[in-house]
This record gives sequence, C-alpha cells and structure tokens, in this order.
Amino acid sequence: MSESADKPAAPPRRKAGRHRGEGQWAAGHFSPLNPNEQTKKDDDGLNVRTRIETIYAHRGFDSIDGADLRGRMRWWGLYTQRRPGIDGGKTAILEPEELDDEFFMLRVRIDGGRLTTAQLRVVAEISQEFARGTADITDRQNIQYHWIRIEDMPEIWRRLEAVGLSTTEACGDTPRVIVGSPVAGIAADEIVDGTPAIEEIQRRVLGNKAFSNLPRKFKAAISGSPQQDVAHEVNDVAFVGVEHPERGPGFDLWVGGGLSTNPKIGVRLGAFVPLEDVPDVYEGVIGLFRDYGYRRLRNRARIKFLVADWGAQKFRQVLEDEYLLRRLADGPAPAAPVEQWRDHIGVHRQRDGRYYIGFAPRVGRVDGTTLAKIADLAEAHGSGRVRTTVQQKMLILDVPEDRVTSLTEGLAALDLTAEPSPFRRGTMACTGIEFCKLAIVETKARGASLIDELERRLPGFTEPLTININGCPNSCARIQIADIGLKGQLVTDAEGRQVEGYQVHLGGSLGLEPGFGRKVRGLKVTSAELPDYIERVLRAFQEQRAEGESFAR
Ligand code: SF4
Repeated sequence: MSESADKPAAPPRRKAGRHRGEGQWAAGHFSPLNPNEQTKKDDDGLNVRTRIETIYAHRGFDSIDGADLRGRMRWWGLYTQRRPGIDGGKTAILEPEELDDEFFMLRVRIDGGRLTTAQLRVVAEISQEFARGTADITDRQNIQYHWIRIEDMPEIWRRLEAVGLSTTEACGDTPRVIVGSPVAGIAADEIVDGTPAIEEIQRRVLGNKAFSNLPRKFKAAISGSPQQDVAHEVNDVAFVGVEHPERGPGFDLWVGGGLSTNPKIGVRLGAFVPLEDVPDVYEGVIGLFRDYGYRRLRNRARIKFLVADWGAQKFRQVLEDEYLLRRLADGPAPAAPVEQWRDHIGVHRQRDGRYYIGFAPRVGRVDGTTLAKIADLAEAHGSGRVRTTVQQKMLILDVPEDRVTSLTEGLAALDLTAEPSPFRRGTMACTGIEFCKLAIVETKARGASLIDELERRLPGFTEPLTININGCPNSCARIQIADIGLKGQLVTDAEGRQVEGYQVHLGGSLGLEPGFGRKVRGLKVTSAELPDYIERVLRAFQEQRAEGESFAR
C-alpha cells in the first residue's frame, strides 16, 4: 500500500467497537486518550523543523514551545539532554523541566549502517565544531551527538543533507532507522542483499506524513546474511534472508519483537517475501500498526502488544486482506546461524576477493577526531566505504590483501583493534546518566573501565561473551538478550547506603537458542563491585565448564 508524501494517513474507518478502549484508529477512535497522542494530533512532528529554522534557531532555547521541546523535536532526532550533576536518585522525582539541559542530543540516522568517507568526514566535522567532539555509535547503527545548540541546527542539517545524511524521524513515534547487515553486498556467504529494499523504503516512507504519527516508535531490520547480524528477533518488523526451495533467495517475515520493560521475541508469519516486495510489505505492516496499534497507553502501544493479542495468523490475514490486497507465499524458516559471534569483527574476505575489517571502539564511544582519522584510513586502504554495526562497532570495506596489515596497524594506533579481547568485543552500553534524562546510573565510562579491568584480570579468557549495560529499566543496550545483562538501578551497599548498581540478568541470547536472560532474584551488584562480580562468574565458568561448553548459550 503506497501513499503520497503529503497525504495524511487514511486508516480504514470502522464503527467504534469493543477495541475502542485501546484507542485504535481502525476501531473509529480518533480522540486522543493521552497527552502524547494530543500533541501529535495538535501538529505533526515533522512540522517542527520549520519552527526550528525560522524561530528557535534565531531566538534561542528559551523561545521553544514546551510541546515542541519535549515532543515534536524528536521527529528530527533531537532530545534535550540531562542537566549535568543531577544524580540518579532524582530521575523519577524531578519535573522534566528540572532535568532538561539547554543542549540537545542529536541522532543521525545511518540506514543499513552505510557510510561513505565523504559522509563520515562531515559527521566528524559536525562533532568537532558543534558537539564538543562527541559521537557515539548506537546499538542501531546511528551516530549520536551531544551538546548540540538549537542555534546550530540549520547549519548542521545543511551539512548533513549535502552529503545525503539526515536526522529525519531518527526519534519519535515514527519509522526509525532501518538496520541492515553491515556486510550487505560484499559477504561471500550472503543469501540476498537487502540494500535496494532499504533504499526504496527510505524513499517512500521518510518524511511521509502518512506514517509520521504512529502509536509508538517502529523499528525495522533487513539482513540477508546467514549470520543474522542485526538482532532481527527484537525488531517491530524484520526481514531475514532465506533460500526458498522453489522461489530462490528472499526474506522470511517477522513481526512483534521488542525489548524494554515487556520484552518479546518477534514471531514468524510464515511468509516468504522476495526482495522486490519488501518495501510493499514494510508499508503494509507499518500502515497496519498505524491503524490498529494501541494508542491509549504508551506502555502498550508498541506493535508487539498487538501481535501478542492477535497471534501470527490473524496478523498475516489482516495484512494480506486490508493492506497488501494479495496473498503472500508461504516460506521456510531461516537456518540457524552457525557462528555465535555475529559482529563481523576481524579480517574477512569479501566475495570479490578484497577484505573487510571490523574493529572495536569501547562501548561505541568514538569522537570527531577519531572518526576523521578512520575516514583517512578507509580512503588510503579501501574504496571509501565504511559501516556501523548494531553492536556499536565499525567496518572498513574493500581492502586489497596487500593493504590489510597496514590498515589494521593504523587502526590499532587509534586504539581501534581488529583483534579485541572478548570483553571489548562483546560489551555494549547505552547513553546512561552522562546525558540521558531517564538514566539512574553511569554506563559508558563504567563499561569502558570494566573492559580494561577484565582484560587485566582475565588475559586468558577467549570465550565469546556479551555484557550489555543499561542505565535504567529501558533496554537501549538490549540487556535481556546478553549473556550478562546489567540493568541500572540504585542498590543498597554493605553500609546500607543507596548507591549506583545493577540488577543482573544471566543467560540471554539470540540466534541458536533465542531467549531472555533470567533475572536472578536478589542478584544486584553495586557499580564498585561489578568487576569483582563478573570476574567471579567467569572464573567459575572456566573451572566448572564441561567439554565443548561455551559461556554463551
Ligand atoms: Fe537512557 Fe535508559 Fe535508554 Fe540507557 S536504557 S539510554 S538510561 S533510556
């Protein structure tokens, strides 16, 4: 179902029925049932850009309307960042305006994780000129800046858009970045390259007011890699590469995955989608979500709740009957990935005989100066193509064999090793209390120091391992699917004081045996105890492991 760029959403009109209480448009319920829905009805989030460019950027932070500041700015990738110095104990107590700093976090969407070095240089320049050098790689392949001033946004957009990048719908109740295999189009083992589908979806959907008022955010993943390298199981919609016995390569369709406080693994609809049909099916699913998604309560508005209530069969039926107006072919399930590491770190041969090199910043933290040097290295050794990954890592593509060593040495000189320890390779962290208004604890610096400490204490540990660190009960760093997931909260230390710490989740996984980590009752550690605790867990594993047993399940 395709709709023109400026046409407002036209959901099927039904008589208000028993689903009216969930605020579904498809049940005829268009009256906003909470303040977020009212804000979206009052004005489309996309319209705030004009106000930023014509008013707020000239008159400054204090001129910004409250509903724009804490609502519609997100449609252009902007969140106010946390005022420095407010401890995690105050997060739930203070009013939003008391937590707001006058600076912004700005997210640049990098669909499919694809960047040219020309784009990377602009990303680096903006970091250096407007973001005090900050530039984090997120768990969804985006780049996130901090310390952005509203006055600088017109110039930042001008520079990004001049090289084909954007912040459009990078946040908000919108079609968010489409994550994609970072080795799309180059991997020797690829089933199908999803890049054309990502580009077509971007063309149809980004900035399209038919899809700019969704019940909540909408996350998508497309990967034709047999390594299943985009965490498709926890996306709202996912297209996973499969080989159909009669129809050839294409995608298996998943819906309803997501983490946060009600984690769910996505479900297969049992449908096979050829590459050329992916954009139509994406539009169908997002249209269905817009119309049937629950808008009454924000904590029940993600598509996973609708999928859980309907089940795969009804979801597929409504998708086919009302949105695609045709049947989808049945298809096989994807084969289980053979590798536990699905992050592309290290030196790998491409199908054209050249190499790609995956390297590991600590917990996704880089900076403008480093990004500019990565661009230099990519140009000197490859063809100028760079990728970001959903594990907060990066790749340089298209390196001739005789240039590989020079590149890995150049990266190592930037402290970006292509042979990281399992701790650096497998640790991710969300933004945390440094900048996030919802945070209770520190994450990035804690994760980086944890990596260094574990490398020092356990130099012989070589097992694949994931340690994911969140600063609050949300799951921006996917704690539920890590071997060791750490959910930030205040905990009581030995002296009875409330201090920063973590609730521990153990044994989460995607891929071979997907499932959520177990929250071990009472298992909470203070931040200060964290290295000791993880060292104890890993030493116990080393001492008690059975033949062939890996730490990850
Ligand atoms: Fe912020 Fe919580 Fe998300 Fe971390 S998990 S970035 S603290 S909302």
